Amino acid sequence: MLNGRVLVLNRSYLPIHITTVRRAVTLLCLDIAVGVDSEYQTYTWGDLITVPMEESKHEHFHFLHGMDYSVPIPKVLVLHDFDQRPPQTVKFSRLQVFMRDRHTCQYCARTLPKQRLNIDHVVPRIQGGKTTWENVVTSCHHCNRKKGGRTPTQAGMRLLSTPARPRVSPQLLFLKEQNPVWNAFLFL
Ligand SMILES: [Zn+2]
Repeated sequence: MLNGRVLVLNRSYLPIHITTVRRAVTLLCLDIAVGVDSEYQTYTWGDLITVPMEESKHEHFHFLHGMDYSVPIPKVLVLHDFDQRPPQTVKFSRLQVFMRDRHTCQYCARTLPKQRLNIDHVVPRIQGGKTTWENVVTSCHHCNRKKGGRTPTQAGMRLLSTPARPRVSPQLLFLKEQNPVWNAFLFL
């Protein structure tokens, strides 16, 4: 539960990043952020720990359970004093590449857990290939080994799709399916 995800908005209600429930608790306790639901009702930490939550609002919260308490943690937070603009480009990372490619090997089409996947350079590094959105794909270990230091053409292998820079964070798209209440704040 502490690893549940929370959408963070700047003070203009624009989404700027995703954080964990653990970090959300800190932001709330320090009064750096308040929670918000899709009807734009806001919740301070004081509200969350003292006011009983109406049943109809439950879908807007993760619940932190202790021995004799249960604290609702909002799935969306707004930072009071934070004007940072939403990121204009999607940050490159291995996990984002896996999510872009839906955890599917782009050579043999198998969908696998991330431990069984690799990042493959389409034009291999030894041939001058760069680590960019346009030159990396998700690959299973088997296909990665088989391809070795060759291009797909040299190895006689075909790519399922041409890799490209995503317009929207693949992680955000993936997590939004698990957190439909985020939709009120995302204009994708
Ligand atoms: Zn494969």
